[in-house]
Amino acid sequence: MNQANWKIIISGEPDSVSRILMQTMVNAFWFTLAIIVLTAAIVIFFSARISSPLERLVEFTREEDSEVTLKKLSKINAWYKEAERLREAVVLHLQMMTRRVNKLSDETMTDPLTGLYNRKGFNQLVSRHSATNTHCIIAIDIDHFKKINDKHGHNAGHAVLVALSARLKSVCPPEGIVCRFGGEEFVVFMPDSSLNESVNVAEQMREYINEEDFPYTGNVTISLGVASVADNGNDITRALKQADEALYEAKRAGRNKVVVSPSPDMYGYI
Ligand code: GH3
Ligand code: MG
Ligand code: MG
Repeated sequence: MNQANWKIIISGEPDSVSRILMQTMVNAFWFTLAIIVLTAAIVIFFSARISSPLERLVEFTREEDSEVTLKKLSKINAWYKEAERLREAVVLHLQMMTRRVNKLSDETMTDPLTGLYNRKGFNQLVSRHSATNTHCIIAIDIDHFKKINDKHGHNAGHAVLVALSARLKSVCPPEGIVCRFGGEEFVVFMPDSSLNESVNVAEQMREYINEEDFPYTGNVTISLGVASVADNGNDITRALKQADEALYEAKRAGRNKVVVSPSPDMYGYI
């Protein structure tokens, strides 16, 4: 108005002038308030949209099972670049940690010398099978192993253990789980196998080991005891004990033998 050199003159009663001024002030107030509310609504909407993938990221990483977390993370809609990169970084990190944990867990379950499962691995794998099915246990012990060590040295003993482990695995059916329980003692878990089938496997193992030549020593023999888990009240510990008893019965009977323990009081010689 200054530039245009205009003047506005409002003439009237002082009351009506102040009413007009008041009305203008009220209008200005509501207009400003509407702009503030609208801006706040837009800010709240966008900040919610921005933080939503981040909140879900935090929520899912609290999940205890990393497999579940990985599945859930892949479903997050990270709609802007930074959230997507963060999601990718979390997924990669989790995958790497899962691989490391699995590798460590595998290492604690295996015997470093022979690569067979150890007692912990045996327990883990056995627990995956239904306790009520017909499983069997074959307990194996190398005959006169101490003599091999004494005569040819500890390294020769080691080589025999490694070769024997590979041969037991090659004779064992694919579903069987061959484990080294310590020293020169092995256990084979035969899932869903009858006592007859397991005795046949044990006999094949005995024959194969007896026939094959071993490094340093030539001939090596093993004694074996077989027990059914079902005949021992589906109790693995009892079945292991029975298989062990049968194995020592095989030792007493002259070694290089398979002895089957169909019930706690009965032995059958093969
Ligand atoms: P038996 O026929 O009665 O089973 O006689 P054995 O000599 O096989 O049994 P014993 O228990 O008297 O000896 C087992 C030997 O196994 C003693 C130990 O030095 C040896 N041994 C145990 N673990 C290892 C190993 O990892 N490597 C080697 N080289 N020898 C081992
Ligand atoms: Mg022995
Ligand atoms: Mg022994």
